[in-house]
Amino acid sequence: MLRVGGVRTRSLHVLPRKGYRLAYVTALKCRECEREYPVEPLNVCEFCFGPLEVAYDYEAIRKVISREQISKGPQTMWRYALLLPVDGENAVDLHGGFTPLLKANNLGKLLGLDNLYIKNDSVNPSFSFKDRVVSVAITKALEFGFDTVACASTGNLAGSVAAHAAKAGMKALIFIPADLERGKVVGAGVYGPTLVSVHGSYDDVNRLCSELADNYHWAFVNINLRPYYAEGSKTLGYEVAEQLGWRAPDHAVVPLASGALFTKIWKGLHELQDLGLIPTVKTRMHATQPAGCAPIVDAFLNGSRIIRPVRPNTIAKSLAIGNPADGIYALRALVQSQGAACNVPEDEIAEGVKLLAETEGIFTETAGGVVISGLKRLVQAGAIKRDELTVAFITGNGLKTQEAVEGMVHPITIEPTMKSFQAAMEDRQLL
Ligand SMILES: *Cc1c(COP(=O)(O)O)cnc(C)c1O
Ligand SMILES: [Zn+2]
Repeated sequence: MLRVGGVRTRSLHVLPRKGYRLAYVTALKCRECEREYPVEPLNVCEFCFGPLEVAYDYEAIRKVISREQISKGPQTMWRYALLLPVDGENAVDLHGGFTPLLKANNLGKLLGLDNLYIKNDSVNPSFSFKDRVVSVAITKALEFGFDTVACASTGNLAGSVAAHAAKAGMKALIFIPADLERGKVVGAGVYGPTLVSVHGSYDDVNRLCSELADNYHWAFVNINLRPYYAEGSKTLGYEVAEQLGWRAPDHAVVPLASGALFTKIWKGLHELQDLGLIPTVKTRMHATQPAGCAPIVDAFLNGSRIIRPVRPNTIAKSLAIGNPADGIYALRALVQSQGAACNVPEDEIAEGVKLLAETEGIFTETAGGVVISGLKRLVQAGAIKRDELTVAFITGNGLKTQEAVEGMVHPITIEPTMKSFQAAMEDRQLL
């Protein structure tokens, strides 16, 4: 493989393309100073420490992409392979993506919305949207020749990395905070990775993993492969636009942890617009975080342009990142799109989970509870109007965070007799 040192690489057109299709990726590019880097396992600019992002040859993509070309593709996120930084033909693919976009009439009626949709990403192969980012990252790890993948996880990433590593036949080292929900620990461990439970917060785990990444030749999906990994979230934006008949929604309501998902949904919609696949994007991007960990939302509400790290204390553990890597970019997208933000009180999170389950038959995890209760507050505040097309992004599955709603579920226990049944029902005035 041709190695091209950091700064000296102005352009990557010098890299060999045969035998190894670089898709339509031209380089990694610093988001701050725009210096270009080769397509390698790198994530930080050596000069300004800005994060690197994948750059594409959009002119070349424009010549081959079309609504028709996309709709003929597989019923997975890989139908958008032309806009992903890997060779989609060899993707490590558990059939992630192309999840249902459901019209939510019952919940809409309750909230006062005539045009509400739920993007149900909780039905992905490992039951969260993380399968989108991980499918890209593990594919890229194989292309780079790694045999071991790793991650620092708030929970869902753990399961997704472990599952995709199993499929790819790679070794996996998964680092999680010790206080994670049972469903997430088991939901990762079952795939057979080396599961390391760390006494500390996600931010502590992430700091440890950054050190490990400097010392071991592993593909850390959200550290040294982060530029590729993060691109996977764009497919949520693409899908929603395609499923709405090739147009962007008026409103997107999204949960934020690192802020990458939020930033990339916005980016994905704009890529489709710039490629002429959808009309002008006027989507307002609304940010929701739990009150116990809302560094991005709080910065927005305080009119600040910097993110003050917090010590998370929330039941929405998948969103418990106190020092969000993409916080500043999420904040920019939020401001640019004229979105609003909501920090959802901790005692409304489980209520949001219950509300979505009871009205739409979808059991989401605590992050989804944040989205639904956040949506309710945004409508009450007048940020979303009745007739406007609104999509709430449900990113994870409730079976992984049963602790949050256990106390709200009360089976009626009876003897196996008609008499016992009728007595129990009459007691509760259910018959
Ligand atoms: C990771 C995660 C998020 C947030 O993703 P970021 O890209 O880190 O902002 C949202 N919802 C769920 C269920 C997650 O697991
Ligand atoms: Zn830079």
